[in-house]
Amino acid sequence: MLPPMTDQMKAIVVERLGPPDVMEIRDIPVPQPGEGEIRIEVEAVGINFADVLAVAGEYLTRTRVPYTPGMEFAGIVQSLGEGVTHVKVGQRVACLGGSGALAKYAVVKATGIIPVPENFTGAQAAAFPVSYFTAYHGLKTLGRGQEGEWVLVQAAAGALGTASVQLAKAMGMKVIAMASTEEKLQLARDLGADVTLLQDDPDRVQKVREAAGGKGVPLILEVVGGKRFQESLDMTADQGRVIVIGNASREPADMRPVELMKRNLTVTGLWLTSMMADREATVAAAKALTPLVASGQVTPQVGPTYALDESARAFQDILDRKTIGKVVIEPGR
Ligand code: NDP
Repeated sequence: MLPPMTDQMKAIVVERLGPPDVMEIRDIPVPQPGEGEIRIEVEAVGINFADVLAVAGEYLTRTRVPYTPGMEFAGIVQSLGEGVTHVKVGQRVACLGGSGALAKYAVVKATGIIPVPENFTGAQAAAFPVSYFTAYHGLKTLGRGQEGEWVLVQAAAGALGTASVQLAKAMGMKVIAMASTEEKLQLARDLGADVTLLQDDPDRVQKVREAAGGKGVPLILEVVGGKRFQESLDMTADQGRVIVIGNASREPADMRPVELMKRNLTVTGLWLTSMMADREATVAAAKALTPLVASGQVTPQVGPTYALDESARAFQDILDRKTIGKVVIEPGR
């Protein structure tokens, strides 16, 4: 039996862009599902670095205020708009894209939902789509990683990092994991990383090159950017591939295209939002991920969980690099 509805709900509202403390908890009207839409009672919201950047006004797309953040979440279908027939009330679903999930209820297009594997909790379902699809596209679709090949994973204990380590190992690759603390490196080792290295190790470039047989790594998943970007090029083997997935340092990077030419390097950008428009690539990724999820070879690493009124702290903890695994906010808590 679903709980009775009131017309107001708790939600995070951002009226001006800035640091995490611009997020305020407010009472706002419960959204009503229109034609082709469904209302979901939000169980868990997966927080990505992109959410932090969006609130700061530094994301790839413009953030329009006022708005309620939260682009990736899981919950229970609570009511159906007109014309929705393929979804059942009471079903657990995951959703990706848009905003509005940092609230007790969210309304989405019924066509946009993602089925949730039976063995997933709500938190795991909310921690899965962005990190694992991005990891797959970085390692395989764009990275063209091969079994037995070395890959360097930066921020390896984060949401994308843990997904990348797990997936690379499941694909038979050899992993060098970098992160900022020993505790983070321990998680990377637990997930199967072959070599781990502190991000601030003074000899990191040389150590990475040596770990991969002396010639550098053929594939790097680059998420830090700034001055670290040049280091990534220095760590890459001739003819290697650097997949630019993020810029967690929030610093500009210099690149000398001539260096790419000299060493036959490939630098490729990856943004999941635009990859999702490539239906063939999305279907291939889902096809590859489904058996790995079913067999338990990849399991979302849910990190710290927070209540809705702790959202600003959750965002700040990501910025302060305090979190391990995927940060999840639970509005029903
Ligand atoms: P994480 O859970 O990995 O958290 C961010 C991590 O970035 C931190 O834990 C930290 O790990 C690392 N980091 C390195 N330098 C800094 C810095 N100067 N300030 C803060 N953090 C830093 O987040 P996500 O998994 O959401 O994202 C990881 C990266 O991947 C981000 O850059 C994000 O934008 C990108 N991303 C891009 C996607 C795309 O479609 N292009 C999709 C998903 C993620 P450590 O302390 O170990 O260095």
